[in-house]
Amino acid sequence: MTEPATASTGPRQPGAPARSVTVQLSPPYDVVVGAGLLEEAPRLVPQAAVAVVTDDTVGELHARRLVAALEATGKRVATITVPPGEASKGLATYGRVVRELAAAGIGRDGAVLALGGGVVGDLGGFAAATYLRGVPVYQLPTTLLAMIDASIGGKTGLDLPEGKNLVGAFWQPRAVLADVRTLRTLPARELRQGVAELVKTGYIGDLGLVGEAARLLVPAAAGQGSLNASEAELVELVARAAAVKTRIVSEDPHEAGVRAYLNLGHTLAHALEAASGLALSHGDAVLYGLLYAALLGRARGMADVVDEVDRLVGQLRPDPLPDVAFDALVPYMARDKKARAGRVRFVLIAEPERLELVDDLTEAELRAAWGALEELVR
Ligand code: NAD
Repeated sequence: MTEPATASTGPRQPGAPARSVTVQLSPPYDVVVGAGLLEEAPRLVPQAAVAVVTDDTVGELHARRLVAALEATGKRVATITVPPGEASKGLATYGRVVRELAAAGIGRDGAVLALGGGVVGDLGGFAAATYLRGVPVYQLPTTLLAMIDASIGGKTGLDLPEGKNLVGAFWQPRAVLADVRTLRTLPARELRQGVAELVKTGYIGDLGLVGEAARLLVPAAAGQGSLNASEAELVELVARAAAVKTRIVSEDPHEAGVRAYLNLGHTLAHALEAASGLALSHGDAVLYGLLYAALLGRARGMADVVDEVDRLVGQLRPDPLPDVAFDALVPYMARDKKARAGRVRFVLIAEPERLELVDDLTEAELRAAWGALEELVR
């Protein structure tokens, strides 16, 4: 990694000290992780007129304290609310959002604050990228997945009926403000999506995260109780994971190289999602995808993390592996965006924290690993 992200201790929040990591792009921006950051937003957002883009669920649970804090400092605030769920990441909702930005009189000196999960982040980010040919956006992620992944790196976009994320733009936020207090209301199923990405992030760049995720988040993500981590522990965990993504994005902002490593576990995951007609959630598909990558790697004499990943999958209890035949998965794996010239391309764990792009896997190897996966999880 050429330009490592810098980590520093940010402003003190009530409860737990905030941490920030800097995305080293031009201009650089901070990913700030803290407890109670929504109330701190006015200090971190200088614009006098802002539009908070959120969904109904997050709006109900968390937008009020953000809006109240912004208004208390004299800012003009418009709130634009969309229905929760992936369906809002489409042209119709996008059209409504940009029209509401215009109706609210947001100018180039204003800003969009995207408060929610990855759907709101991608939609609000894309609206900000295109409205008036670009207005500043602040990402205020409220799911674990969005905090450690989707909000960092400037990928914004929409789905089309023809496929996911087919329209989009790179539009870096002015800052990412991750308030871990919002995670307390996150349902177990949504937390599990984030844990899957956290485990992936651990193997990419900070192995300690795998154990920490198991210790702090797995019971809640498996629906066995509420989130038992302290705010300080959550801040630490999210900041460490955000630092890994930040480092990769700093090195490869436009996905020309190492950013491909973020797709660890995703080649099989995308194929499982597609072949099962989206019956499996993305996070659950990633869990199976990680286990599959571990099996492929072990068979090639790479790191053996099979038992560790298998244990996590067992604890997290994803929905059952869909009943699809290996032959039905192959075309989707070959179509994955990491595929080149029809070859299936996999990110594998050569050693923890050292990944490799492998494009010479034979069909026999892929089939054998699928058989081993079925044996482990069925
Ligand atoms: P999401 O935005 O749909 O949120 C999941 C659900 O959780 C929603 O129903 C939402 O209302 C609810 N929710 C959000 N925060 C909550 C909270 N604090 N308390 C209670 N409920 C809450 O889903 P997601 O998993 O955050 O994001 C998935 C999206 O992110 C996909 O569209 C994916 O394509 C995108 N994504 C983008 C990037 C990127 O780099 N831009 C990376 C990964 C994923």
